[in-house]
Amino acid sequence: MTQPTAAIPKVDFDRIRKDFTVLDQQVNGHPLVYLDNAASSQMPVSVADRLDAYHRNEHANVHRGIHTLSQKATDAFEMTRRKVQQFIGASSSDEIVFTTGTTDSLNLAANSYGMENLQKGDEIILSEMEHHANIVPWQMVAQKTGAVIRVIPVLDNGELDMQAYKELLGPRTKIVSVIHVSNALGTVNPVKEITALAHEHHAVVVIDGAQSVPHQPVDVQDIDCDFFTFSSHKMCGPTGFGILYGKKHLLDKMPPYRGGGDMIDKVSFEETTYNVVPFRFEAGTPPIAAGIGLGAAIDYLNEIGMEQIANREYELVDYAVSRLREIEGLQMIGESSNRASVCSFVFDDIHASDLGTILDKRGIAVRTGHHCAQPILRRFNVPATTRASVSFYNTTEDIDRLVDGIHYAKSFFE
Ligand code: PLP
Repeated sequence: MTQPTAAIPKVDFDRIRKDFTVLDQQVNGHPLVYLDNAASSQMPVSVADRLDAYHRNEHANVHRGIHTLSQKATDAFEMTRRKVQQFIGASSSDEIVFTTGTTDSLNLAANSYGMENLQKGDEIILSEMEHHANIVPWQMVAQKTGAVIRVIPVLDNGELDMQAYKELLGPRTKIVSVIHVSNALGTVNPVKEITALAHEHHAVVVIDGAQSVPHQPVDVQDIDCDFFTFSSHKMCGPTGFGILYGKKHLLDKMPPYRGGGDMIDKVSFEETTYNVVPFRFEAGTPPIAAGIGLGAAIDYLNEIGMEQIANREYELVDYAVSRLREIEGLQMIGESSNRASVCSFVFDDIHASDLGTILDKRGIAVRTGHHCAQPILRRFNVPATTRASVSFYNTTEDIDRLVDGIHYAKSFFE
């Protein structure tokens, strides 16, 4: 678990929990315990209100209209680009491409940068703990270009084998694309070191930050990665919206990925010229409300403070790991001491989906299955895990309810 930072101002998380009205409900006759934050986090009232206000009073298409409503919608939407830029420490808002989510961002990077720059025999390094969204797009591009995928193995404790990574790097390495925080294990990977090593070999680095941006401060310039991707719905924002950060000099040279309105400069039947970045990558009407909603989510997170959020979640995960370890027969999958949000575990005698179903009957929402990361589950020789993932609005009582629920399920199967 990432160590908490000392001496940062305290936040009243009991009060903050009240901003998440969805948590104040009974599920199957029990108060809801929501521990599926790695799939989608919940939305505070301020974000829901912002979406409501947009839909009720401000809705218009962006970038095209001369009329006042369209200009206002454009201003609000484009404000999110600047908020994202500041939130992740990018040097310019031109480096922030709006997408529909991490999956879309990774497809964009693979299809635009990858297709343009990969040749037969070039190597793309991924890790064994990638989400399918950071495997399949590269495989598809590798099939088309003749590039080869190499895989960084994972150690028994759920950390990357950095020695093996160093040995994989070489003159043919063109792209290194790795997950920042594993959605299946919770491991926080040393992305700054991974990036520096890749750059020694002149490879371009893509980071899947879907599970890091919601849980800790992220500074893309400090990491020095070339691309960074994440999703709004995992950081208190709406679904259907995401970000591809890319260094401007790379984006400038990349061809568009999708064609249509907004991404063009001039169109004729003989020739089309393209818009400047980031608009070149944003064809058609974007998810405007979701973008404005992400802006409100970033305001909300900034108000609490990402350091405070990381500290709070450190305490919750630490508590969860120690309480889960008390349960006889429970095996944690991923034992890294550098962990964020996620606890994944199995039992010899209880299938994850049975456990998840029993927990749900007691109002406890966890995720079971392969978490869109089949290779890492195969690595640990398990078909499925139960995953509890915390957010800052969870409490130690939520963890206690989870542990009680697991004991109840165990008694059921004995
Ligand atoms: N990468 C990681 C690490 C994830 O956890 C997820 C979603 O669970 C994704 C990528 C895909 O994100 P989305 O479904 O928002 O595109």
